[in-house]
Formats: sequence, C-alpha cells, structure tokens
Amino acid sequence: MSTRPIPTRKPRPLRNWSGSARWTPGEMLRPTEETQIVAALHRARRAGATLRVIGGGHSFTPLAACDDTVMTLDGYQGLVRADAATGLVTLRAGTRLWAVADLLRPHGLALSVMGDIDRQSIAGAIQTGTHGTGARFTGFAGMVRGLRIALATGDVVDASPEQDRELFEAARLGLGAIGVILEVTLQCVPAYRLTLRESTENIDDVQTRFLDDSAHTDHHEFFWFPGTRRATVRTSQRVELATARHRQHRAVEALQREVLANGVFEVCCRAAALVPPLSGPVAEIASRAFAGPGMTDDSHRVYAAPRRVRFHESEWAIPAEHFEEAFDALRRRFIDEGVRVTFPLEIRRVSADDVWMSTASGRDSVYIAAHRHHLERSAPYLLMVQRTLEPFAARPHWGKMHWLGARELCRLYPRFDDFIAVRRRTDPDGILMTPYMRHLLGE
Ligand SMILES: Cc1cc2nc3c(=O)[nH]c(=O)nc-3n(C[C@H](O)[C@H](O)[C@H](O)COP(=O)(O)OP(=O)(O)OC[C@H]3O[C@@H](n4cnc5c(N)ncnc54)[C@H](O)[C@@H]3O)c2cc1C
Repeated sequence: MSTRPIPTRKPRPLRNWSGSARWTPGEMLRPTEETQIVAALHRARRAGATLRVIGGGHSFTPLAACDDTVMTLDGYQGLVRADAATGLVTLRAGTRLWAVADLLRPHGLALSVMGDIDRQSIAGAIQTGTHGTGARFTGFAGMVRGLRIALATGDVVDASPEQDRELFEAARLGLGAIGVILEVTLQCVPAYRLTLRESTENIDDVQTRFLDDSAHTDHHEFFWFPGTRRATVRTSQRVELATARHRQHRAVEALQREVLANGVFEVCCRAAALVPPLSGPVAEIASRAFAGPGMTDDSHRVYAAPRRVRFHESEWAIPAEHFEEAFDALRRRFIDEGVRVTFPLEIRRVSADDVWMSTASGRDSVYIAAHRHHLERSAPYLLMVQRTLEPFAARPHWGKMHWLGARELCRLYPRFDDFIAVRRRTDPDGILMTPYMRHLLGE
C-alpha cells in the first residue's frame, strides 16, 4: 500500500505553554495516518535527522523541542474502541483530554482521575507521568493497559503486560524516547460525578491532617501561599452519575474563575513582577480569595479548570511518609530566605504504581509543586525548592522544571538502566534523542 504524502506545515517558531522553551524546527509534520508516521520515522533515519513528537506543548521543559523534525498528532485523534464491560478504552495518541469525555459518554465510561487541566494529548500526558490527586489513584501512566507504538526502526508493535512486557514498561512512561505512541489503551471506569468543596483553613492544621484527610477522601489537595497562615483545601468525593448536578449561577462562577482566579490575579501578579515588594500583599489577598464555590457535576467538569495566568512550575514526588518533614523543611527555608511569591504551592497525593519511570514508582507519593509567574525570574526560587527537597529522595515531574541530569536521576529510579536498555534496542540510531534528552538519560 502506498503512503499518501505526509501533510507538512510551514515551519514556524514554536513555544511551550509557559514560554520557557522556544525553537524553530526544520520541518513540522502533521500526519493523519499510521503509515505516514512510520514513513516519517524511516525518512528521519535515512537522513540522520532527529524527530520529536509534540502533544499539547504543555510541558515546562524542552522535552518536545527539536531543531530537525517536529511531528504533531493533532490530525491523529479519536476513539478506536471502547468496551463498556471491561472499561478498556483505546484512543489515538493525539487525542486531547478535553475531547475524551464526549468520546466515552456513549459507552458510560470516564477517565478514573484527571489533573488540573485538560489541554494535554493523551500520549503527552502518559509520557511525562501526568497525575491528579487521590491516595487510591495512580497517574495516567498507571492506567495504561496496552500501547501501539511506531519504533524509530519503523516497526509497528503492540505492547502490553502479555506482549513484549519490557517494551510496555518502558514505553508507558517513555518521555517520547521509546517510539512514537500511536494508540493508548486505558483502564477506564463507569462514568461518575464529583462533589467538590473548597475552604480556607489554617495551614498548620491542614499540613498535620493532610496524610489522614487524603487517605479518607477520594481526591484531596491543598494550596498554600508561602508567608501566609492560610491554605485553600480542595476536596472531591465521587458520587453516582444519577446525583443531581449543582453549580453556582453561571455569573458567580464566571466571577470566581475568570475574573478573580484569572483576570484580577494576572493583574496582581504582573504588578508584583514589576514591584516585588507587592508579592506579600498579593499572596495575602489571594490566599483569602482562592477558594471557589463548591459544585457537583460530571467528573471531567470538576477536575479541570482554565489556567490563563501563565507560570513556570517545578513539582516533586516525595515518599508519602516523608511529607510532613519535607514540608516543614520548605517552610523553614522560606522563612530563612524571606520568600514572598504570588503563586501558591500545590500539594497532592497519589498511590504507588509499578511504572518504571513513574515519579510514584514503588512509593505512595505526595507531590509538592512550586510556581512562579512567567514574567518573574523563576530559577532561583524553583532551584531553592529543589535543593530543599533533594534530601527526601524527591523525584522531579518529567514535564516540569528541574535541574537534575542522568547522574542524579539514575539513583532515583531502580529501573533506570532497564529503561536505557529498551531505549537502545528500540532507537539504536538515536533518532528521538535531542541534547535535552541526552542530558536526562545520559546517552
Ligand atoms: C497549566 C498546566 C497545568 C498542568 N497541570 C498538570 C497536572 O495537574 N498534573 C500533572 O501531572 N501535570 C500537569 N501539567 C504538566 C503536563 O500535564 C505535562 O507536561 C504533559 O506532558 C503535557 O502534555 P502535552 O500533550 O502537552 O505533551 P507535550 O508537552 O507536548 O509533550 C510531552 C512529552 O510527550 C511526548 N509525546 C507527545 N506525544 C507523543 C507520542 N504520540 N508519542 C511519543 N511521545 C509523545 C513529547 O515528545 C514529550 O516528550 C500541567 C501543565 C500546564 C502547562
């Protein structure tokens, strides 16, 4: 069967969501068929070129950046199959998370958990270990039950726990280095609703109760503005699909989400970026106004919210049992350094999984995320957070900012060498390896 020419877009400057990575690829491919994706890999291999896939471009690191060929799978989206009885769902790799709920609704299914936003592609989300919060739930990579992959050699393979297990384990969180993911099979669950409550509470109490509260609620997290005494607690419980929807009047929600959480907050952050002493007052005000109205709605409508104020972010996975100690260390450090920032820390929890390169591999984990407005210098603050958390065997989120390389990362992941062995087998010529990937993997 002959391959139709691969749709190509005029190369133009690209950037990730936060603007921390900017590059212009030599060419930009937008395949719509599997054969075109395979042809692109063959061509890159023959030319000795490098190729990276870009999903939603929402990683904070230059994971998708590449000077040669960048491929988007935006033209390769949709549902391949869904089985309501088993909950197994196969999606094309480019499918955006915001589109998944509509695809699954006719089958009575939903994603078992989601993160804060829904702009990512499903392949991008699993390749970096994207997660939400919930002590009984893993991140996206832990939900993967099968993958269809185009390897750099041009072979197309199906991998699962039963079929080429090593490839499956490496590729389900593969950083885009194990091949181009074509299809993802996920374990989904019967569709459900969530009842969300948000409240403003004392940070000492919230910190002390976090492990217990998160163990007894479905989805529990909190935000803390450094330098303030207040935390915003966000808790969602799963309820039957038949439970009545309840939301604030649209105008009230718009006021909270668009005006307070995004519009006014953006103005305040910009002001503080220009006049840093304003950071303290901004954090004080924001910590009082951050909690939004509660609601009961379909799960995907509760998990994800618009994030229009751009920021840089680092996120660290700590073994859950070290959370209190690690959080205390951060609080002490912030006092010592007089830290005043406009963005809160975000604290979430997930269960351990068995994915080789997952930040929660083999460990019940608490995530501590730090953010800085995109107009501010983020590196000194985020690096301070990294250094403070390093003694707690903190693993950096693969899609967020950090300053670790292969030498440190290999000590944090017991299966790091196994991952590298699969990478070498599947991409012997290093087609998928950019300088940033070499820095991460030491290749
Ligand atoms: C505002 C915002 C909110 C966020 N919230 C959360 C959150 O709540 N929880 C969380 O864990 N993370 C969160 N993230 C991080 C984000 O989920 C991850 O960085 C995710 O990888 C982004 O997905 P993407 O589709 O944009 O992938 P990209 O950033 O485009 O790519 C990520 C990686 O996946 C690879 N890739 C993409 N498609 C394929 C494919 N088909 N085959 C092989 N490799 C592929 C790329 O090459 C790259 O290595 C957030 C990011 C932002 C900007």
